[in-house]
Amino acid sequence: MKRCLSCSAPLPANTNICHYCGTRNDVDLGRKDYVLHATASDRICPHCDQVLQTIDLHLQENFLIERCASCYGLFFDPGEIEALLESSVAGVFDINIQLLRNINKERYAKNQKVQYIKCPVCRNFMRRVNFGHRSGVVVDRCREHGVWLDNGEIAHLLEWKKAGGQMLHERQLRRERETGKNRKRESWRGSPVDVAAGHGYPELFSGRADEELLSMVSTAIFRLFR
Ligand SMILES: [Zn+2]
Ligand SMILES: [Zn+2]
Ligand SMILES: [Zn+2]
Repeated sequence: MKRCLSCSAPLPANTNICHYCGTRNDVDLGRKDYVLHATASDRICPHCDQVLQTIDLHLQENFLIERCASCYGLFFDPGEIEALLESSVAGVFDINIQLLRNINKERYAKNQKVQYIKCPVCRNFMRRVNFGHRSGVVVDRCREHGVWLDNGEIAHLLEWKKAGGQMLHERQLRRERETGKNRKRESWRGSPVDVAAGHGYPELFSGRADEELLSMVSTAIFRLFR
C-alpha cells in the first residue's frame, strides 16, 4: 500500500492527496542532484522577463534545461520532456483511468486565463498544445525551440505518465492512425496527429487545444456580428 510521504498514513486508492494531512504526494523528480550551470543562458522567462538559469540534470551528456529563478517555470528543448519522463518514470504496465481522472481534477486550476506567451529563444508567441492524451496539461510550445512548463506542470506530467497516461495516449494514437488511414482516402487532411521525426520518442503533443480555441473564438465572433 502507498503511504503519505508526509504523515505516512495509508493513501486512499486513485488519489495522490492524503485524506489525513492534506499533503499532495508529488511524484518525485528523483533528480535533486542537479547542478546550476555557471553560465546563465541567453533565454528569457516569458512571465518574468528575466534571464533563465541553466540546469544540468545529469541525465545524459548535454542534457541542460532552463529554469526561471522567480517563477520556477522550465524550458525544455524539443524531445527533452519525453526523455525526462522516460528516465524518471519507468515500468508502467497499467492504465488507471480513475487515477488519471482524479489527478486532472485535483490539478485543474479553475478560472485559468488563457494567455499566450513568448518563446524564450525567438520571442515569437508560442502555440498552446495538449500534452498527450488526457494529461490535462496544456503546454506552450515553439515548434523550433521547445516547450515551456509552468511551475508544477512537470510533476503533473510525471503523475500522468505513472498512472498510465502515456500508454493511453499511444493506444489512442494507434487508433487514430488506423481510422486516419481510412479517412485519408476521402479527405485531404489525413491523420490529425503530427509525427515528429528525429528523436526516438513518440510524439506527445496534439494541436487540439488550438483548434478548440479557434472554434470558440470563431463562435464568439459569429455571435457578435449576427
Ligand atoms: Zn498525510
Ligand atoms: Zn519566471
Ligand atoms: Zn522559438
